[in-house]
Amino acid sequence: EPALNSDRIEMMKFDLDSIDKKKRNELLLRPIIDSTEIIKRVTPIMQQVRQRGDAAVLDFTRQFDRVEMETHTITAPFDPAQMKLDPETKRAIDQAYDNIYKFHDAQLDKETLVVETMPGVVCSRFSRPIERVGLYVPGGTAVLPSTTLMLGIPAKVAGCREIVIATPPRSDGSVVPEVLYVAHKVGASHVLKAGGAQAVAAMAYGTETVPKVDKIFGPGNQYVTAAKMVAQNDTSCLVSIDMPAGPSEVLVIADMTSNPAYVAADLLSQAEHGADSQVVLLAVDLTEQHLKEIENEVHNQAMALPRCDIIRKSIPHSFSLSMKTLEEAMEFSNDYAPEHLILHLKDAPGAVSMVQNAGSVFVGQYSPESFGDYASGTNHTLPTYGYSRMYSGVNTNGFVKHITSQECTAEGMDRLADTVMRLAEIEGLDAHRNAVAVRVKDLRK
Ligand code: NAD
Repeated sequence: EPALNSDRIEMMKFDLDSIDKKKRNELLLRPIIDSTEIIKRVTPIMQQVRQRGDAAVLDFTRQFDRVEMETHTITAPFDPAQMKLDPETKRAIDQAYDNIYKFHDAQLDKETLVVETMPGVVCSRFSRPIERVGLYVPGGTAVLPSTTLMLGIPAKVAGCREIVIATPPRSDGSVVPEVLYVAHKVGASHVLKAGGAQAVAAMAYGTETVPKVDKIFGPGNQYVTAAKMVAQNDTSCLVSIDMPAGPSEVLVIADMTSNPAYVAADLLSQAEHGADSQVVLLAVDLTEQHLKEIENEVHNQAMALPRCDIIRKSIPHSFSLSMKTLEEAMEFSNDYAPEHLILHLKDAPGAVSMVQNAGSVFVGQYSPESFGDYASGTNHTLPTYGYSRMYSGVNTNGFVKHITSQECTAEGMDRLADTVMRLAEIEGLDAHRNAVAVRVKDLRK
């Protein structure tokens, strides 16, 4: 039933004191994603690309994106005419680039970690870039320079030798100029004008024009996500992925000091992503009047937004949950493990120490999620679906490997020999024991 324009746009409403444990657990859940069907659909697409390379990718682009092309890979240096931007756009992208670069550059381990665990036993750790990375930038119609920045900058900072960017072509077969401009800035070597599972397969297996990569990053629709999972499980292509991805989420915690218009605006900036967006408001000791003001702002601001139709679908399955204390709110938030956590609190910085699980935190009324989505410097590719319990968002460390080493002197050999020989004996690995014994025998002559 299409909703009437005058219908009120409202979140569901609960109170922690009047729901039971079962209901609380239900509120923590995300919609079930069954990927078996999608995996069945993407597997043959990927096999085709593996067998027939570029020809298969071009066929699928014709079929799914309705774009006819003769070649789909462009290589650096890119044509300046295809990345022409108006000065305001260029300025905005350049500023975002600089902030994201600064924050991700600071994450790089530039020095070797050295620890002498015992006299003469020196352990070290150093990092090396993953040599070839594939970055998926979604959307044929959408313009997503931000995702290109968020994936491309850490790859550049880490020193990845080859950066391949895949993105669906526009209907005329061209690349969004903003995306190409960022591809140029981060030093990408190839841009593949293709999307979906076929693009992921091209980067995982390599084609005549697309280099095979070692790790694939980036968000995308269910076909992209399933293709990344299939590629990761196929040992023949030896590729890894950044993280599992589901629909985007925000959890906002607001107390009486919160500005209802700001809280509503933050909820809606998430709700406009898609009908499946997850939006949660935790109301800490709010008066009925204050909560009502937030609800009114949600409705009124939503009505004025161009993506009101999407919001009409996402807001009704979102909810607010009222509770008395900040401790209860933080406990719920940590159990939910949101992708984005926004703190509209009197002492927002003080609440950060209570955060156990979240992709990225937005502290105080002047830190909207939009800042992190675009330009404050933090990454916007973050774990969803509760995976922030154990995954980090995309960061510079995802683009490097850490290699450890040890270097021992004769003194170190002498001091550690008996321990290692004993442990090897317990495990019944005589050759291991012997590798120490032949040395220590000479030292202890
Ligand atoms: P997309 O690039 O993810 O997928 C488009 C591709 O899907 C097309 O190129 C086509 O090849 C393929 N496809 C479409 N229908 C198909 C079918 N029936 N069978 C096989 N393949 C098919 O773009 P999208 O679809 O617009 O989705 C964008 C996704 O990315 C959304 O889910 C959005 O939430 C997400 N997103 C996330 C972020 C972020 O950083 N978190 C940013 C932007 C977008």
